[in-house]
Amino acid sequence: MAATIIDGKGVSARLKDKVAAEAARLKQAHGITPGLATVLVGNDPASEVYVRNKNRTAEALGFHSISFHLPADASEGDVLTRVRALNDDPGVHGILVQMPLPSQVREEAVLDTLDPHKDVDALTPTNAGLLLSGHATLVSCTPAGVMLLLKEYGIEISGANALVIGRSLLFGKPAAQLLLAANATVTMAHSRTRDLPDYCRRADILVAAIGKPEFVKGDWVKPGATVIDVGINRVGTGEGEYKIVGDVDYTAASERAGAITPVPGGVGAMTIACLMRNTLIAAASIAGLPAPQI
Ligand code: NAP
Repeated sequence: MAATIIDGKGVSARLKDKVAAEAARLKQAHGITPGLATVLVGNDPASEVYVRNKNRTAEALGFHSISFHLPADASEGDVLTRVRALNDDPGVHGILVQMPLPSQVREEAVLDTLDPHKDVDALTPTNAGLLLSGHATLVSCTPAGVMLLLKEYGIEISGANALVIGRSLLFGKPAAQLLLAANATVTMAHSRTRDLPDYCRRADILVAAIGKPEFVKGDWVKPGATVIDVGINRVGTGEGEYKIVGDVDYTAASERAGAITPVPGGVGAMTIACLMRNTLIAAASIAGLPAPQI
């Protein structure tokens, strides 16, 4: 039977509509306009596109949106000064410092300086710790997006064997925590894992965040499993053109999976929507209001 295609674009569009409606309500009832500030250091073309999309989406949802672009040779002190100014700006509720940063700027120093209440990427040690203890207000955007997709498609998580391939701070670790909190039996795999195909074949929920094009093969997928492909890889098509593929061999995997996310149009579509949701939640929480339940 053909796999159900998990439509991240559709789920993300509905989430953005809800965020816009809640933002309008927050403004009307409390005079608060959620504010997102982005900080880009350098001229990485992909980062420029990501940041522009984030600011545009924030504006489209009725948020206050500002962006700061620092030169590639900005010092760590320059970046920290900008972050501190945004920490103190009452019109800014979410601060997003686009990663990766140039080598002279330590990611750790930036995250140690960023106000955890405004850390809408949920990367600071405080927010990572709150997730571990089950008390997080702000949850890392892409893992949160994955959980929403599973919920939206009625995928049973409790008691399921979930395998997360990849252990990054940005995705793998928080994703494993969220699946564990939802009562899955979670296994984490990484580059030193022995016999990865065997772990994959036992997974009811297989989450791939590796960064290697079509690495997970179709016959590694347990029949009926849910496959969540987080990878975004640009590969040449041979005529000077490129296409985006995931970490899973989509065509082969969709013949065995029960449900699968496409790339593009799956997980990737959820990340910006969850960033906007986090900014809305931060705006409410900084004002001492309950987090909007969306
Ligand atoms: P990352 O920091 O580069 O981590 C990659 C992980 O994959 C590491 O934990 C690494 O293991 C593991 N790995 C590498 N080779 C492996 C192998 N042969 N077998 C098993 N595991 C292996 O990557 P990331 O930031 O998590 O991103 C992963 C992918 O997701 C990328 O394609 C990225 O573009 C995409 N992504 C998408 C979104 C989105 O919005 N959709 C968000 C974040 C990331 P070690 O730890 O042992 O090195």
